[in-house]
Amino acid sequence: MAIEDPLVTLESDKATMDVPAPFAGRVAQLRVKLGDRVSEGSVLLTLSENSASPPEQRDDTPESGASVGVVDEAPPTAPDSGYDAQVVVIGAGIGGYSAAFRAADLGLNTVLIERYDRLGGVCLNVGCIPSKALLHAARVIAEAEEMGAHGVSFGRPKVDVDALREWKQSVVDKLTGGLEVLARQRKVEVVRGTARMTGPHTLEAGDRTISFEHCVIAAGSSSASLPFLPEDQRIFDSTGALELHEVPKRLLVIGGGIIGLELATVYDALGSRVTVVELLEQLIPGCDPDLIRPLQERISGRYEAIHVGTEVGSVKELKSGLKVELSSGDNQTFDGILVAVGRRPNGHAVDAAAAGVEVDAAGFIAVDRELRTNVPWIHAIGDVVGGPMLAHKAAHEGRRGGGGDRRLPGAGFDARTVPSVAFTDPEIAWMGLTETAAREQGLEFEKGAFPGRPRGGRSASGATRASQSSCSSPARGDCWARGSSVSTPAI
Ligand SMILES: Cc1cc2nc3c(=O)[nH]c(=O)nc-3n(C[C@H](O)[C@H](O)[C@H](O)COP(=O)(O)OP(=O)(O)OC[C@H]3O[C@@H](n4cnc5c(N)ncnc54)[C@H](O)[C@@H]3O)c2cc1C
Repeated sequence: MAIEDPLVTLESDKATMDVPAPFAGRVAQLRVKLGDRVSEGSVLLTLSENSASPPEQRDDTPESGASVGVVDEAPPTAPDSGYDAQVVVIGAGIGGYSAAFRAADLGLNTVLIERYDRLGGVCLNVGCIPSKALLHAARVIAEAEEMGAHGVSFGRPKVDVDALREWKQSVVDKLTGGLEVLARQRKVEVVRGTARMTGPHTLEAGDRTISFEHCVIAAGSSSASLPFLPEDQRIFDSTGALELHEVPKRLLVIGGGIIGLELATVYDALGSRVTVVELLEQLIPGCDPDLIRPLQERISGRYEAIHVGTEVGSVKELKSGLKVELSSGDNQTFDGILVAVGRRPNGHAVDAAAAGVEVDAAGFIAVDRELRTNVPWIHAIGDVVGGPMLAHKAAHEGRRGGGGDRRLPGAGFDARTVPSVAFTDPEIAWMGLTETAAREQGLEFEKGAFPGRPRGGRSASGATRASQSSCSSPARGDCWARGSSVSTPAI
């Protein structure tokens, strides 16, 4: 193979990446096999310039870490069921491709259907990955600014929005590109088109009709919208915000949840004067109030305004801006509005009812502990089944072997302990039973709190904001594993 040709593809919870050949040569010995777990330092293969011998396989299983896809690995077995596919997965987001890859690795003939050109769904294309790339840029800008108070000044940042967008897109492209390779290696057939179920064992996608033995619905979610907002290119959702067309001088963020506040962090660093409006009485509703305090303190000093318990009444399009009326009676004009009012499950986007699958009015598909819908051979995973709408939850559900057939998603997934993180500045993280939830459920609980301020390492790394760690645990019963929440400003 030539220099830079992909040798192996590494796959982690959220990303896939080709490892290129450092020089032209032949693979002399293969030290891993498809699906092996590896960690930093694991030897994957030996490459030699002159070896004519065919690759050897080694059977031992390396330590935990990323898993590996090896070029030209053996295909899964052919179907024996009489259906076109043993498994059809609808949606190639992180939940869907994880389920499809696992099914194929375990020998099932698998078809993966995606309506968009790019695989990877929301997380890789318009969610976690691009937002974290831009948040990294925001963090660098903030840290450079903060050092000004300690004797090191860099001057005002000059932001080239086009170059920043290109870099963000290159990060996304690198991660999504690897998925096509992984699908090919596993002989997962990728079908492009919008899937519509037509019966309990059939669906249509594009010009194809496909019959299946099992189906996994992984159709994900879309940004929720506010019906009264006018159609105006100055009004955008998280996908539009990540396209980074321009940096509005005055930006209104409607919705003080994680997505709204992460993108507010980005636009604030890039120079927007940010106002946040949240309908409920607290930012990041559901998170414990004491964990939010350090964030609230920082952004109260930086943002133009933060309105909680406030509703947007109306928005009028003017040439000079977007005139917004708030329920507090305040009228303000903005140059851009980011609508981040939650996510809507895509349950109705696949005509699941035609297969007998129950979808509720909101678009959620109910599943049991083994991730089966009311139709036993049809599973559903990821955002479309509800619970925390998070990428690692979707991926984990996709990979769990369970139910009657351990090659399909399932096996009693318990979403109570899924960690949540807001990559704001400072960051906030929590998992398990929060104090807020314990109160709502009327549980007796004990709470421990640790103020982060005195920690030496944090002080030395320039973290000047107060932090708070707390643990709420039921007064009787298990403690830390079920409920701990920590705020982590710039550790
Ligand atoms: C801005 C933003 C930032 C985020 N940051 C984080 C983060 O930092 N950490 C985290 O854990 N989570 C984050 N999330 C949430 C995360 O992106 C989702 O939880 C995750 O993408 C859900 O994966 P999924 O596979 O269930 O669905 P999706 O990623 O939504 O994928 C579903 C796929 O199904 C396809 N599809 C739908 N209907 C059909 C059909 N009828 N036919 C064919 N294809 C169809 C869609 O096109 C899509 O590709 C973020 C989300 C956003 C919007």
